[in-house]
Amino acid sequence: MSRNASSDAAGARLGTLSAGEEIVRLREVTKAFDDGTVALAPISLRVRAGEFVLFLGPSGCGKSTIFRVVAGLAEPTTGSVEVLGGTPAQARASREVSYVFQDATLLPWSRVRDNVRLPLALRRVDRQTTEAEVDRALELVGLLDRGDAYPHELSGGQRMRVSIARALVTRPKLLLLDEPFGALDEITRQKLQDELLAITSREPDTTVLFVTHNVFEAAYLASRVVVLSPGPGRIVADLQTDASSRTAAFRESGEFAQL
Ligand code: ADP
Ligand code: MG
Repeated sequence: MSRNASSDAAGARLGTLSAGEEIVRLREVTKAFDDGTVALAPISLRVRAGEFVLFLGPSGCGKSTIFRVVAGLAEPTTGSVEVLGGTPAQARASREVSYVFQDATLLPWSRVRDNVRLPLALRRVDRQTTEAEVDRALELVGLLDRGDAYPHELSGGQRMRVSIARALVTRPKLLLLDEPFGALDEITRQKLQDELLAITSREPDTTVLFVTHNVFEAAYLASRVVVLSPGPGRIVADLQTDASSRTAAFRESGEFAQL
């Protein structure tokens, strides 16, 4: 991968991706916590640019731990991790990796726009670019008119949409979504599913790793499903999905309802 560092070091792009390039590589990764809990048995996984990989598995099997390792928020105990051709920490310092965790919180004292602006502000992106990107991200999640609201003035679904806008504002190449829609009502959930599919079809190199317990969501969104065993997590199935399921028509069909 070419890695033309720009002068804007903190927000530097890591380089251009070619279609199908491997952007996540986990080799024999294990994770044991200080209290002795083993969260991951050796996990090996390769993800290519443009894949929408859904992780299914019982609670406690290590899904969030995998995401934290990929995001550079936790170190593996053994094994190696490569993200966008570098270490997870390097990828995290770039603008290329964004994540939304289930407990994603907004800064309560900051308006919606300021929350969404944060990843760009931290990377000292110029003001004009920043404002245009904040508009774009808020538009994507349908909240352009709520930019001046404070988080407590929004519903739970709207707050989650702000978290997603904050993740999208950097145009990440890799998006980690850990049960992002779990707490939302069905209508909001479907709207966000559609938005996510629209984003990934518009930007086909965007790679998404997604955790859900919802099998309908899995069929609708994913191009690939990785199934983990009860902890310590181990990959027991790794399947390509049928692309024809990734349409609203499929979701609305009886076939989908009976899955
Ligand atoms: P999942 O997201 O699939 O529900 P997690 O990755 O959150 O699973 O957790 C995997 C296992 O690791 C669980 O047994 C959990 O209790 C344990 N675990 C997660 N984080 C920690 C931690 N910081 N300290 C100790 N154990 C942890
Ligand atoms: Mg979890």
